[in-house]
Amino acid sequence: MEKIILDGNVVAQEIKEGLKSRIDLLKNKGITPCLATILVGDNPASETYVRMKGNACKRLGIESIRVHLPEETGTLELIETIKELNNDPSVHGILLQHPVPSQIDERAAFEAIDIRKDVDGVTSTGFGQTALGFGQYPSCTPAAIMKMLDYYQIPIEGKHAVVVGRSPILGKPVSALLLNANATVTTCHSKTANLPEILKHADIVVAAVGLPKFIQGSWLKQGSVVLDAGYNKGNVGDIDYDTCYEAASAITPVPGGIGPITIATLLKHTVDSAEKL
Ligand code: NAP
Repeated sequence: MEKIILDGNVVAQEIKEGLKSRIDLLKNKGITPCLATILVGDNPASETYVRMKGNACKRLGIESIRVHLPEETGTLELIETIKELNNDPSVHGILLQHPVPSQIDERAAFEAIDIRKDVDGVTSTGFGQTALGFGQYPSCTPAAIMKMLDYYQIPIEGKHAVVVGRSPILGKPVSALLLNANATVTTCHSKTANLPEILKHADIVVAAVGLPKFIQGSWLKQGSVVLDAGYNKGNVGDIDYDTCYEAASAITPVPGGIGPITIATLLKHTVDSAEKL
C-alpha cells in the first residue's frame, strides 16, 4: 500500500509564502500586522510555544508583542490586560496561551478577547461561528488539520472521522469543521467506552488527547488517514507512530506535522485581521 507522510512544513511554507506580498502591501499603507501573545506564569512548554509563535512572526515581518504576567495573576488583572490590547489599534490579533494558572477563570479571560482580534477562535462567539460554518478565525490547530487534508486532497465527504478529544480549542472545533465538510463525525473523550472498537471504523482519525503515544496501530482500520495534533514531552505525539504507520495510508509525523501549520495559520489570521481592522 502506498503511504503518504503528511508533511506540515511544506504546507506551512506555502501559507507563509502567500502572506509575504500581503504583508508588504499592508506595510506600504503604514500598517504592520501585529500579534499580541499573553503568557501567564512560567510553564516551560507554554513559554516555548509563545517564543516559537513570536519568532515565526518576526521571520515574516509581523510585529509581535509578548506580554508575560506573573504566576499569581488574577482573572480581573488578566482581563484588564486583554482589554488594553483590545483597545490598542496597533494590535490585530490576541493569543492567550492555554493553559493559564488554576486560580484564573480561563473561560472568562477568553471571552474578554474582542471577536475581531480572536485569531485563535477561543471566544464562544468565535467557536459558534466556526460550528455554524462562517467563522472568520477557526482555532488554529483545527484549521491546520483541515488545511492538511485539503493540501493533500484527502477526501472528507461521506467518510467516517473519529476525533479523540473534545477540548474547546481542538477536539470540538475540529469535529465541527469535519462535520461541515460532510464527514460523519464521532467525537470521543475520556468517558468513551470501547475506543479501539470505534476507531476500527474510522477512515480519518484525529488524535487530540494529550497522552503520549496513546493511540495504537492495532486499533486502526487498515488504510486510515491519521492526523496527530498531540505534542508531548520528548517530541512525541498522541499516537504510537510506529504501529500506526503500519496501518495508515497517510499519517502526520510529530514534529513536522500539524504543529508548523498551526503556527502558519495563526500568522495568516493575524494578517487577515490587519487587512480588516
Ligand atoms: P485537553 O484540553 O487536555 O483535552 C484532552 C481531551 O482528550 C479531553 O477531551 C479528554 O476527555 C480526552 N481524553 C483524555 N484521556 C482520554 C482517554 N483515555 N480516552 C479518550 N479521550 C481522552 O488537551 P488539548 O488542549 O485539546 O490538546 C490535546 C493535544 O494536542 C495535546 O497533546 C496538546 O499538546 C496538543 N496540541 C497541539 C497543538 C499543535 O499546535 N499541534 C495545539 C494545541 C494542542 P475529557 O473531555 O473527557 O476530559
